[in-house]
This record gives sequence, structure tokens and C-alpha cells, in this order.
Amino acid sequence: MNKIWILGAGQLGAMLKHAAQPLNIEVRPVETDETDTFDIAANDIITVEREHWPVTPATEQLTQHSSFLNGPALAQLADRASQKKLLDSLGLATAPWVDVKQGHSAEQLFAELGERVLLKQRSGGYDGKGQHWLKLSGNAEQRAIPQDWLDHCIAEQAIGFDEEVSLIGMRHANGDTAFYPLAINQHHEGILLATVSPVASKASLQGQAENMLGKLMDSLDYVGVMTMECFQVGDKLLINEIAPRVHNSGHWTQAGSSLSQFEAHIRAVADLPLVQPLVKTQSVMLNLIGVEYNHQWLCVPGVEVFWYGKDVRPGRKVGHINISIAERSQLLASLAKLEPLMTPVYADAIAWLIKHLD
Ligand code: ATP
Ligand code: MG
Ligand code: MG
Repeated sequence: MNKIWILGAGQLGAMLKHAAQPLNIEVRPVETDETDTFDIAANDIITVEREHWPVTPATEQLTQHSSFLNGPALAQLADRASQKKLLDSLGLATAPWVDVKQGHSAEQLFAELGERVLLKQRSGGYDGKGQHWLKLSGNAEQRAIPQDWLDHCIAEQAIGFDEEVSLIGMRHANGDTAFYPLAINQHHEGILLATVSPVASKASLQGQAENMLGKLMDSLDYVGVMTMECFQVGDKLLINEIAPRVHNSGHWTQAGSSLSQFEAHIRAVADLPLVQPLVKTQSVMLNLIGVEYNHQWLCVPGVEVFWYGKDVRPGRKVGHINISIAERSQLLASLAKLEPLMTPVYADAIAWLIKHLD
């Protein structure tokens, strides 16, 4: 192998490149709107850092190249309807759902799925964008399917989950797999805000989760890192959605594991040795959303800041902080020192993190 090309040049592409450097592998993230074409060698490899992309000269060249990995799997997973059908066909539990077509009414969806229904656009959504709640007891807007969503969305039953958890796994071309421990995730306004992993109280769900994601990756003959977002309801996991890539809820592995999810993906796609990642200690991750860089964060022992170099806008992920400290009192002291350096919304996130520490 000569070089790894990444479709997409956001923060995930940048972190893949960063992780590949010590492996002596050149990685070239590509902006989806680049107008140049590229000199891709026959033994190069092409992978992705995102699920959706526009049709441009750059994306056409990359996706049509014979070295583009996981093409059919990516296409099947990128559409929520075909993703749900695949999960159903494998007997993997998900939120009950309906493929919304012309002629469907909100009443039909309430009858089939219950009093609260979440419409999700079939493709393109992220950070909770492209979603619309329907409520039987709601106002007119909440009791109608938007006309232009017909044929373009699925409807899901509202799940009263205990917790949101995610599993990140990796699969090698020879079929070997390895997994990180489950992470628990806290969202704010549809965007991931905080993650903790591992969590002792979730260890009993680990085998169930690994079986589910392992079965899915095997069925797709997938190579690389894949993420399974789940709702935990009692002792059962329901898949919320699958992301066939490295994932925000795995950023803690940069600090808390012998092998980061980014290096794991590079190793898998480059056919380098894959090992079970060794987890050093419990880690926490906080996303930096719409906040300016504050160099005072660097005064807090244990804080590891990743800044994405993007313009700061409200609701935009511009970086994250990992903290991985084995000594609990030290971790609590660092969180206490960090809190006054953050905006008020982080007080709740830090309280949530502390509640979930072992
Ligand atoms: P991401 O940024 O993770 O890709 P997304 O926009 O693709 O997000 P989902 O993960 O499907 O969207 O949903 C976003 C959030 O909305 C979930 O993390 C969960 O909190 C909530 N949610 C999604 N589906 C349901 C459901 N069926 N019932 C209850 N809450 C839900
Ligand atoms: Mg998503
Ligand atoms: Mg999601």
C-alpha cells in the first residue's frame, strides 16, 4: 500500500491522518468539493470519514475507484430505510419503524407506532438535524407529516430509554474483530455533549452488544471501524443507528486506550496487525460546542484538548476534551477546576459525568 485517501476532510479525517503518522502511513483527506482529480495509485486505499457526500468530481473519482473500500455497505447504511431493513433481516433489534410513503398520514403512524413518533429523513441527517417529532396530543404542526417528507423519511416509535450507549468495533479483512467497551452518551439539543467509558454497570451488556455489531460487520464483510448507537431499555439493547466510521463517542480512546479508534481504522484498512485495544482507565470526553478556545483549559491536570481549527458558530462542534485519570479524587479535582472555565451548559454535563463515574 502506498497512501490512504479519505473521502471527507473534517475533524475525523484530520484525526485519522494524525493517527497514521506514527505508523509511517501517508493519509490524504479530500474535501468533497475539491475540483482537482487525483493521482491515485493502484495499490492505494480509499476510505471515508462521513456517511453522506455530494456528487462532485472528487467524490465520483474516489467512490468509483477499484480501491474504494466498503462501497456496497456504505450505500446500504447511508439510507435509513435500507439500514433498518438490513437490521430487521439480521434479527437485530431496532426501534419499531415505518417507511413513510405518499399516502401515509400521521394518524396511521400513531395507530401503528404510538402517540409519539419521530420522523427521520432517510439520508443526510446528523446532530439531530433532519428530524421532526409527531405528537398525537400536539399542535397542528405536530400532527401532520410535512408534505415534502413523504417518500424521504422513516417514522420511529419514541423509545423511553434508560440510557444511550454506543459500541465501537473494528473488523479486519480476514474477519477478525475487536471491540472497545461500551460508552454511555449524553446529548444536548441533539448533539453529543459528553461520553464516559468504560462503565462497570454496562459490562453485563457488552457481550450482547458485541454479538450484534459483530453479526452486522460480518454480514457486510466490512473492513474498518464501525459504530453502533443503541438505546438501553432494561437489559436489552435496541440499535438507534449505525455509523460505518470512526465516531465522536469513541474520541475517549485517544486518551484511554492503547489503540485509538483512529489508529484502529487505519490498521484495519491498511491490513496491519489488529489487536484487542487495552483500556488504561475510565475516561471522560466533553465536546466543545460553539465555544472559543480557552487556553486556561490547559492549566487543568489531565486535560487533553483537541481543537479542530473550524470557525466557531453556535451549535457547531469545534473540538473536544479528553480526561483519562486513574485516581478518582484527581479526576474529580480536575473536573472541578475545569467547570468554571466552561459555559453554564457544561455544569450539567460535568454533573452527569460525575454521576456516571465508577
Ligand atoms: P448523529 O449526530 O448521532 O449522527 P442523527 O442526527 O443521525 O445523530 P439519531 O442518532 O438518529 O440522529 O438521533 C439523535 C438523537 O435523537 C438520539 O441520540 C436520541 O437522543 C434521539 N432519538 C433518536 N431516535 C429516537 C427514538 N426512536 N426515540 C427516542 N429518542 C430518539
Ligand atoms: Mg447519525
Ligand atoms: Mg446518532
